[in-house]
Amino acid sequence: MTAGGWFEEAIHAHATQKLEITQVLYSSDTELQKILIFENPTFGRVMTLDGVVQVTEGDEFIYHEMMAHVPILAHGAVRDVLIVGGGDGGLLEEVLKHPVARATMVEIDRGVLDLARRYLPSICKDAFDDPRAELVIADGARHVAETDARYDVVLIDSTDPVGPGEVLFQREFYAGCKRCLKPGGILVTQNGVAFVQGEELTSSWRHFDALFADPAAYAVAVPTYIWGFMALGWASDDPAHRRRPLAAIEERYAAAELDTRYYNPEIHLGAFALPTYMKELMR
Ligand code: SAM
Repeated sequence: MTAGGWFEEAIHAHATQKLEITQVLYSSDTELQKILIFENPTFGRVMTLDGVVQVTEGDEFIYHEMMAHVPILAHGAVRDVLIVGGGDGGLLEEVLKHPVARATMVEIDRGVLDLARRYLPSICKDAFDDPRAELVIADGARHVAETDARYDVVLIDSTDPVGPGEVLFQREFYAGCKRCLKPGGILVTQNGVAFVQGEELTSSWRHFDALFADPAAYAVAVPTYIWGFMALGWASDDPAHRRRPLAAIEERYAAAELDTRYYNPEIHLGAFALPTYMKELMR
């Protein structure tokens, strides 16, 4: 919603956030979603889809660093990565900081990708042009059900479970993710802000618990994903990934020579220490 010079987020029935619009850069519908990109004095350029904040220049580093580096450094030998969604290119950019062989991004809406290139270059940088990046315009659910490719890490950087994103929160999709994970692979999912979207975390965790040996989640505080900790779902058949000692994470972090502003080895491990209200959602 835009009211005068303000964007009011339409994600929660009884609470909202408002972001001042100093300039609308783009506002239109693709075949699938309504896309609004605007300038805000605090967060820089902001992209929303169907009235929900997706990414901002100001705080995208937080979410993308935690979604990329926690599974990749926990795994330790990632060559092939699948990103489902992630049309703004920020997660792809972060993943490609690692010496991966290939990063495949399956994004359902070409419009998001094209607009990110045009209006959000500080987020995607040149990730879309990296020779290791494979860009696929398709439904992620169909991709994981049909691909012959296998991945060490699968990252679901999707919208919320509405519209095209809805299918990415269902048991069949997660079974497809498991199907295309290599042995010992790791699945990480965008699972909403637990304090106001707790049912998302519960539902995904129950699917993970039925499909994987080690269902879990970790927490990240993203300012524009408001109302508390965002849950990143975690699923793997190798529990050791989540229990790497700090020294091992520190060694891998140093070797990766990453320049991060949120991620560090201590917060990698600390992020899995969840508040009780979030642990109670994972049953
Ligand atoms: N970081 C954001 C968050 O946590 O909410 C997500 C950002 S990214 C823009 C979300 C992307 O998921 C969008 O570009 C959207 O088009 C894509 N998407 C939604 N449903 C999808 C599907 N079924 N397959 C592939 N991509 C999908």
